[in-house]
Amino acid sequence: MGMENGSLFEFVSKKFNDVADEIKLDDSVRTILSQPKNEIIVNFPVKMDDGSYRMFKGYRIQHNNVLGPYKGGLRFHPCVNLDEVKALAMLMTIKCALVDLPLGGGKGGIKFDPAELSREELERVTRRFVAALGTNISPVHDIPAPDVNTGADIMVWMMDTYMNLAGPNEKHLARGIVTGKPVDCGGTEGREQATGRGVVMCIEEWARNKGVSIEGMTYSIQGFGNVGSWAADAMSRLGARLTAVNDHTGTIVCEAGIDVAELKEYVAQHGSVAGYGELEILPRHDFFTHSCDIMIPAALENQIDSAEAQVMKVKLVAEGANGPTTPDGEKILVKNGVEIIPDVLANAGGVTVSYYEWVQNRTRDYWLEEEVNSKLRRKLSKAYQEVLDICNEQQVDMRSACYIKALKHLANVYAKRGIFP
Ligand code: NAD
Repeated sequence: MGMENGSLFEFVSKKFNDVADEIKLDDSVRTILSQPKNEIIVNFPVKMDDGSYRMFKGYRIQHNNVLGPYKGGLRFHPCVNLDEVKALAMLMTIKCALVDLPLGGGKGGIKFDPAELSREELERVTRRFVAALGTNISPVHDIPAPDVNTGADIMVWMMDTYMNLAGPNEKHLARGIVTGKPVDCGGTEGREQATGRGVVMCIEEWARNKGVSIEGMTYSIQGFGNVGSWAADAMSRLGARLTAVNDHTGTIVCEAGIDVAELKEYVAQHGSVAGYGELEILPRHDFFTHSCDIMIPAALENQIDSAEAQVMKVKLVAEGANGPTTPDGEKILVKNGVEIIPDVLANAGGVTVSYYEWVQNRTRDYWLEEEVNSKLRRKLSKAYQEVLDICNEQQVDMRSACYIKALKHLANVYAKRGIFP
């Protein structure tokens, strides 16, 4: 899987440079966007339950803020590294520009396995990271959000820590330091579901444009966490059948259809899909050879490399994860006629509703879930159609069209503002 022929940052940079060549992006804008503005790395000690201290390495990469404050998730995972976080931050700049949010791109993470820590230790790591980042993050400068292994519980600890460190006049503005908070602590309705829901809204656009119905289609999902499980929830509501799921423990397959609500409850209790419904747990490979209409990767990057792409038998890949397809994997998928809704569009529902949460925190006017969802749908449908127009006019694939739209937007803003000094 992945990585043999390059890193995620190389992959994202290559796409960026190819499209920059194609649209003759201004050299100064290319230079600025090819590296992040700020790379913050902090090493901080945390007291473990046994009284010992352990050092943790945390990252916050601020890629670009010409459109607005840095925005992007925070990942807790043993594989977090500078290259990965830089790539993910760059993807956020492109994503926000693509769907036209007044936000820039950032990403962060801490390199450790949260499953090895107690809940108390996890809380101390989270709070100490906020303290270590200090003034590098703020509700008007850089606003983190959930990503792999970080949900509403982590976000609310971050918010609480930041609010406790803020002075009385900033305290309530400080609530907007992170998005993806629990609804009763300043979060928004619909944020938890937003990324998975957005993936499915894009699949609905795909189906509408093709004149096909999602009802009765089969689909598979890699990663049954926040993005995967909510995408499954939305797909089931449309009458599609979930026939295979892969996560870090292996693959389950059930042609008759897996009950999404039941699986969700099972994973919440057991931490993985292994053992669900007495289904056999199969190797990773069996997920990629499984034949169905739509595959939704919603786990980690570099999952669909040439080896996987060669054996895949699906019509559409809707990228819930960031960077799940390597350039080599993508070439094979395209050659085999597999369509791809790229990450920067497919999973943009997450940052879009994060933006809505941030707006609500600033205005202190809270919206109903229907309002959030209908705004989200309008946003994604518009972006999807504009991307399709570029595909048709310029005869390019969807990922290129997304980058074209995003980079032109950024280039226009730089052209009008000028580059100081
Ligand atoms: P999560 O922690 O909730 O879930 C991650 C899932 O991936 C789990 O089911 C886990 O078992 C699975 N996984 C981990 N390692 C794996 C491996 N080696 N093989 C197969 N499965 C593996 O994370 P999430 O928030 O759902 O994020 C998933 C992806 O979606 C990431 O790429 C993330 O950057 C992207 N994303 C998330 C959001 C968001 O709002 N949370 C927004 C946009 C994009």
